[in-house]
Amino acid sequence: HGDFNQKIDYVFKVVLIGDSAVGKSQLLARFARNEFSVDSKATIGVEFQTKTLAIDHKTVKAQIWDTAGQERLFLGDVEVIVYLTLRYRAVTSAYYRGAVGAMLVYDMTKRQSFDHMARWLEELRGHADKNIVIMLIGNKCDLGSLRAVPTEDAQEFAERENLCFMETSALETTNVESAFMTVLTEIYHIIS
Ligand code: GDP
Ligand code: MG
Repeated sequence: HGDFNQKIDYVFKVVLIGDSAVGKSQLLARFARNEFSVDSKATIGVEFQTKTLAIDHKTVKAQIWDTAGQERLFLGDVEVIVYLTLRYRAVTSAYYRGAVGAMLVYDMTKRQSFDHMARWLEELRGHADKNIVIMLIGNKCDLGSLRAVPTEDAQEFAERENLCFMETSALETTNVESAFMTVLTEIYHIIS
């Protein structure tokens, strides 16, 4: 509402990546529409949502991409992984093309999703612009008693790889706005 005739100063493309079920789609739903769904459906194909906001008196349209297209399935079955990689290679490059920001999401109750961050980062750095702003996100911090990734481990990884880092909960709306705004503001400072 109200932004029909709004002049857009910048469009920033930001991609969400990480294992299946870590909460990428719900983080986006929370940020873009302030919604959350417990029985979140697996994301089919590539989709994006936009949110228009102000940074430093400029109008920025954030275009956040979310996908299952390049969600890797670590099934311990090489054929399945190779099949998916071939099938989605074209989608993968389209997904990263033009991205100025990336949210690298793991589930803090699933150690494996954090251990895979190095691989996701490698894929990201292989496809994306070298100046891309990257934020590491430990999602589901509402499930504190099930925590499998200590904050310090993630902090250490983020420092070593030169990433921003935050723990979030899409369910409880913790740090969601803050995580996206940190990335968008950093992008703004780089390009303006
Ligand atoms: P995606 O595959 O990474 O897009 O993950 P989804 O966003 O579809 O979420 C997977 C599951 O985790 C769904 O059942 C969500 O309701 C749940 N989920 C997502 N974010 C959170 C969170 O912050 N806390 C909790 N407790 N559950 C979450
Ligand atoms: Mg999804």
